[in-house]
Amino acid sequence: MAALQHLVSHLEIQTGQSLHNHRLSSVGGGDINSAYRLQAANIDWFIKLNRADLAEMFLAEAASLRELADIGAVRVPKVICFGECQQHTYLVLEFIELGALQGRSASLFGQQLALLHQNPQAYFGWSIDNTIGSTPQHNGRHDDWISFWRQQRLGKQLQFAAANGYRGSLQTQGEKLLEKMGGFFSDYRPHPSLLHGDLWGGNAAADKQGQPIIFDPACYYGDREADLAMTELFGGFSRDFYAAYQATYPLDSGYKTRKTLYNLYHILNHLNLFGSGYLNQANSMIGQLLAALN
Ligand code: ADP
Repeated sequence: MAALQHLVSHLEIQTGQSLHNHRLSSVGGGDINSAYRLQAANIDWFIKLNRADLAEMFLAEAASLRELADIGAVRVPKVICFGECQQHTYLVLEFIELGALQGRSASLFGQQLALLHQNPQAYFGWSIDNTIGSTPQHNGRHDDWISFWRQQRLGKQLQFAAANGYRGSLQTQGEKLLEKMGGFFSDYRPHPSLLHGDLWGGNAAADKQGQPIIFDPACYYGDREADLAMTELFGGFSRDFYAAYQATYPLDSGYKTRKTLYNLYHILNHLNLFGSGYLNQANSMIGQLLAALN
């Protein structure tokens, strides 16, 4: 609590805003950080807090939110500030009352995500590295999507898995997949789009007016199918959403197969973050993908 009071005084200086008579309450629901709502006259902020050594994570999150805001296709929380205070790193965003993304809001989100994805980018990767969950996500620039996905995404997660002790067939079959995965792109050329990067149901909502909101991004420039695939991985998005996306920016028919290639990244990440409960799923996805290539 003393750390939080210190942070409030620090934010008062940092932003030049009066936080006199403020109210501070804890907000649940996050995976990685502790979160708070800070209210004062004319102030309603959402604060994420973590250990000082993770400062780059919030710097990257702020950069993601700002880039999404610049394109302006989907609403994101405004970044107020970020930095370090004593042993903590913090990110301060505008607080938004969040509700379910359904009906008209879901359709609107489908359209808006399609517009975000239609915005062309110059290369695959991003200007800085970031994290997916708490795992490092490397965004080194590539002009070729297949080599980006092979080296910076699946290859890195397989290396993390080996370091975590997952060797044997996950690695041998995984290597085979890396060699052969070009086969999924024989008649499909992805274009770089700004992706949210971590688009599961817990990172999208609607505000009180029904306007879609996305948050907690792990942005990079990549094949839009990777964002779409993740919406299907853990559920939470309605038919209205998919119908509106498809009507605005139709998907290639090969998406149905490639989505397993894209979701394998997140399942390997879950294996690395949460342990062996995800090993069978990772092996079975690799098996399916290799079978589809034969
Ligand atoms: P973490 O990085 O720890 O996963 P999130 O950014 O997902 O944290 O935030 C945790 C929860 O707080 C979210 O599930 C959401 O319900 C809520 N939340 C996120 N951003 C805001 C915001 N700007 N205003 C209000 N609530 C928010």
